[in-house]
Amino acid sequence: MLGCTVMQYRGTALVTGAGSGIGLATARVLAASGFSVALASLEPDAPPLTDAMCYYRADIAQIGEHAALLARIIADLGPLTCLVNCAGVTSLVRGDMLALTPESFDRVLAVNLRGTFFLTQVVARHMLDCPPPADVPRSIITIGSSNAEIVGETRADYCMAKAAVGMMNKLFAARLASAGIAAFEIRPGIIHTAMTSPAVARYDRFVADGGVPMNRWGEPDDVAATVLTLARGDIPYATGIHLDIGGGMQLHRV
Ligand code: NAD
Repeated sequence: MLGCTVMQYRGTALVTGAGSGIGLATARVLAASGFSVALASLEPDAPPLTDAMCYYRADIAQIGEHAALLARIIADLGPLTCLVNCAGVTSLVRGDMLALTPESFDRVLAVNLRGTFFLTQVVARHMLDCPPPADVPRSIITIGSSNAEIVGETRADYCMAKAAVGMMNKLFAARLASAGIAAFEIRPGIIHTAMTSPAVARYDRFVADGGVPMNRWGEPDDVAATVLTLARGDIPYATGIHLDIGGGMQLHRV
């Protein structure tokens, strides 16, 4: 019929940390591109949703709740073809690592590494149990950070967790490649979100001083566009790689 377009079904994605920032932008971009999207996040209320989106309030640090969360999502939306690990927290207090507290360390590791690893594990098992849908690529995409390599002395726990997530990505890539499930990591630079809002003045100065060759902050949509590229299988003969999405700030320069 003239004027009607039927959007191609791209798959079913679970995006964690989708209540705000990069995760929300990613969920929107995936949904607008033909994915059914489960958004899982801590926020008690769902953000505005389209028909292709379902919101689940979830704390990914509660690893005993992962199986039930996944079962609900599969019952609502069908088998997952894509996981986007985006839920993350930064240090409770930015400051000298010699004053870093076990409370901050445990919280950051519980979400950014432990919760992320065990959720990925339960999703990977599910994907292996489900026959791959014809022509639908499958992927696990983890939002790491430039701090996997760049030292952020005031957020030592965050940097260590993100470095470990870099290895997590490679491990899942090696384990799942033969099943046709790719694993990718995205390392954003400085992105305008709630996470960076306490450090806006500092990062504004950093950008103004030439710290970011592209001369601007990143936006959540910069990362979301990268997730979409990976999730729809546009980089078909790669797995275990990471992409630096930081306007060039991850270049080593002298
Ligand atoms: P944000 O604070 O806007 O979003 C984080 C989201 O994760 C929120 O919706 C929050 O509710 C959710 N979340 C936190 N803990 C959770 C938990 N236990 N269970 C479920 N959801 C949880 O920040 P953002 O910048 O959009 O961060 C998204 C990801 O991007 C994080 O992993 C972060 O480390 C990473 N990242 C951000 C930047 C940046 O500059 N903003 C840079 C590099 C990496």
